[in-house]
Amino acid sequence: MDNYEIRAYAKINLSLDVTGRLENGYHLVKMVMQTVGIFDELRFEKTKDGIAITADSGELPGEQDNLIYKAASLMKEAYGISGGVKVSLKKNIPVAAGMAGGSTDAAAALKAMNELYGLGLSLRELQELGVKLGADIPYCLLGGTALAEGIGEILTPLPPVPGAVLLVAKPAINVSTRDVYQELDSHAIPSHPDVDGMLSAIRRGDLEGITGRLGNVLEMVTVERYPVIGRIKSLMLECGAKGSLMSGSGPTVFGIFETASGAEKALSRIRGYDLAPQTFVTEFVNA
Ligand code: ATP
Repeated sequence: MDNYEIRAYAKINLSLDVTGRLENGYHLVKMVMQTVGIFDELRFEKTKDGIAITADSGELPGEQDNLIYKAASLMKEAYGISGGVKVSLKKNIPVAAGMAGGSTDAAAALKAMNELYGLGLSLRELQELGVKLGADIPYCLLGGTALAEGIGEILTPLPPVPGAVLLVAKPAINVSTRDVYQELDSHAIPSHPDVDGMLSAIRRGDLEGITGRLGNVLEMVTVERYPVIGRIKSLMLECGAKGSLMSGSGPTVFGIFETASGAEKALSRIRGYDLAPQTFVTEFVNA
């Protein structure tokens, strides 16, 4: 195989709890991850040597700092691949948004190298390599609905959640994941989301049980610092969302609606008030 094309999907967190902190600064988490229908488009081509990336977005870091580069180079090193790869990326996922955009591109690069160079690696082998670059990469390789524990790398696949209309809005602010976690450490967490209750709701296919338990401890830091996040959440709920939450360390907010008309109404109000330049009406995607 000389060419490989893949869609790299974004995720949201239906629930995000922080349960501890390791000595190396990593946080222990308990998160419900869900793939959504927003994706980057990547095309990989086998070359003689080197790693070259062209992207249609100026927002991304240069070649060697790009997670695609890091993933391809890790595969080259780990499996003694002397050949190279040329990558072209169409970036649709908002950057630094809490949607694992970088991690999902890295996961796509691991899969691509596996295919292009006929390595025959299993999902687990790719995940073991991927976690060296980022805690979300093992999940991005898996996709769908899953519980993520540890630093995010211990995964339990879950049944798909019932279908719904999803509105995703990324306000024009940039949030540093590291800063958010650091500030969280200086607070006591007053209440934790009911992750176990959400798992039961997912296992019985109960959308109301899921939307009633959306929760993210990181909102405590970001909603205070960036009021626009709270405004978007309120507006989605006023327009009939069954639930609304910030994803990951933010600033992206999503709302879960039963009907497209509710999501469209919220979308036009978010646009009218100029609260978020990047918006998507989409759905959950299964693994
Ligand atoms: P997470 O939800 O995993 O915290 P995120 O959505 O907050 O991720 P990303 O879009 O993954 O954030 O970007 C985080 C940083 O990673 C960016 O600021 C960017 O500099 C860097 N990065 C490196 N490679 C990529 C890539 N291919 N796509 C996006 N960001 C990348």
